[in-house]
Amino acid sequence: MIRRNKMVKVYYDEDADLEVLSDKTIAVIGYGNQGRAQALNMRDSGLNVIVGNIRDESWHRALEDGFEVYPISEASELAEIILFLLPDEVQPEVYNREVRGNLSDGKALVFAHGYTIHYGFIKPPRNVDILLLAPRMIGTYVRELFQRGSGAPAFISVGQDASGKGLRRVLALAKAIGATRVGVMELSFAEEVELDHFSEHYTVPVIFRAIQLGFEALVEEGYTPEAVLLEMYASGELAEVFRAAAKMGLYKQMSLHSTTSQYGTLTYGSRVMPDSAKGMIKEVIREIKTGRFAREWQLEQQAGYPMFRRLKEEALRHPINEVEERLRRMIRIEL
Ligand code: NDP
Repeated sequence: MIRRNKMVKVYYDEDADLEVLSDKTIAVIGYGNQGRAQALNMRDSGLNVIVGNIRDESWHRALEDGFEVYPISEASELAEIILFLLPDEVQPEVYNREVRGNLSDGKALVFAHGYTIHYGFIKPPRNVDILLLAPRMIGTYVRELFQRGSGAPAFISVGQDASGKGLRRVLALAKAIGATRVGVMELSFAEEVELDHFSEHYTVPVIFRAIQLGFEALVEEGYTPEAVLLEMYASGELAEVFRAAAKMGLYKQMSLHSTTSQYGTLTYGSRVMPDSAKGMIKEVIREIKTGRFAREWQLEQQAGYPMFRRLKEEALRHPINEVEERLRRMIRIEL
């Protein structure tokens, strides 16, 4: 079932050398979720980091954290290594206006997600490195894990190697944010983007939808709504199951549960999600590969987000939200 058609390359601290960045100015463009965490980690690793941002709260936060902060175009001009950590949907416009003109020979433009490069929303010139350093973790944990002496795993890629030092540069950046402490995996921009979309278009929606339909069915059958949520996810137990799965293994962590629970899980898995569902899953994969979603999302942005707004309003009007409020007043959950 598992076909190996290529070698997986994983790099650790001993494969990376910060020296390649020691005399370089590194600009973190966008002091948000990823930007703040990566900028702080890189500075703690001894690199020369500046921040580029619009004049908003994040600008002031970066100043308070002790960084030199510049408008985006100025930071891009000053730096040789530019980490472009803006929301994906705003990247093309800001790139064209503020960054493109500052990409002189041998600089590196680094992304935390390959979306805008893979789908061609950004078409960089040939004289710069195009690198990917995509932590598989939200920004706060990229920082927290680093401070604990560990790190978040990441995908890395060299999309374009104008300097001839692309791999050494991205490995040094990965080391500086703590990622090579645990290991970084090399793969293409395309694979990073498509796997990320698979999580967003399959794994997470399946879990959310299973919870929503389960809630509706149980409440219709007369079960106590607050108890339903506490049982399904609100106690935090489900989160702990996934944490244990990441550490021990999806099925190996089952030993933490009663044998009754294990037997129930094993016998009902294929009943509620039969093997025939794989056809639908492959359909999702095929659709991701066509880039249809990226085009739809771009049109949605251009139209002012009408569908996104409607779907979000609908989700936030679902009775689950009200029951969650009541449950939080009843049970003080500390996670
Ligand atoms: P954020 O939403 O946290 O925003 C980053 C920064 O961009 C903020 O400082 C924000 O300012 C600024 N910004 C927003 N709109 C504009 C604009 N129009 N012009 C200029 N600046 C703007 O981004 P993330 O850190 O979540 O994402 C950055 C990159 O990292 C993306 O490519 C994303 O896919 C990737 N990534 C994100 C992960 C995550 O944990 N969130 C995980 C792995 C990868 P303000 O604070 O004012 O909004």
